[in-house]
Amino acid sequence: MKKPLIVISGGIERYESGLFSGHHRVFAVANYSESILRAGGVPIIVPPTMSFEPSDYVDEILETADGLLLTGGNDVDPFLYGEEPHPKLGELMIQKDRMEFALLDRAFARGIPIFGICRGLQILNVYLGGTLYQDLSEHPDVRVLHEYRSDLSIAGHSVNTVKGSQLNTIFGDEYRVNSAHHQIIKNLAPDLMATAHAKDGVIEGIEHKIRSNVFAVQWHPEMMSRHDSKMAELFQVFVRLCQKEPL
Ligand code: MN
Repeated sequence: MKKPLIVISGGIERYESGLFSGHHRVFAVANYSESILRAGGVPIIVPPTMSFEPSDYVDEILETADGLLLTGGNDVDPFLYGEEPHPKLGELMIQKDRMEFALLDRAFARGIPIFGICRGLQILNVYLGGTLYQDLSEHPDVRVLHEYRSDLSIAGHSVNTVKGSQLNTIFGDEYRVNSAHHQIIKNLAPDLMATAHAKDGVIEGIEHKIRSNVFAVQWHPEMMSRHDSKMAELFQVFVRLCQKEPL
């Protein structure tokens, strides 16, 4: 069987020192492509652009892709969900916002699987009309540590999954995940359902109500997939979905 081609949304940032100081680099944390390869997929990193429209190249790439992986990274621009910047808003990357909206347009139009990780969960929710807490401190009930500063290959807080969900099938009722986020979902988009929560109620996993091949997690499975078989399985499920005909 042909290996599915999986688009990984890249980031873009400025070199602050060295030979290329003042120029920009395109990047994605290597764990994403390693996890996709380990699960039997072929990764391709797509660059945000400084001076072009995402529509100039995104449609062509997604025409041949079998799946879309939305990566972690900077905060989503709050104007995309109708809010002014909160004092604790982190650094933005509007080129990535714009590219990912274009990727999502095309991925939904073609019906290919979409898997969001961390910021990927957040931008998927915003794209579909949901909102975010711009900082954990905005949420009245947060009482679990979501911003780990230790090794992300090690599990942190636990999550409870919703019976009947894909996450429940993989992880069972309760599982320990890592956590490195300061933003969380506020209002869930109408087409999404929450399928995993931390003990303080923070939404940690979402699945699309109609499109069963669209889902996302707030944690970083790519950092754990080498030694944690459940995290590896999450990527295997995604890659397997990418091998099927689009919905
Ligand atoms: Mn968390």
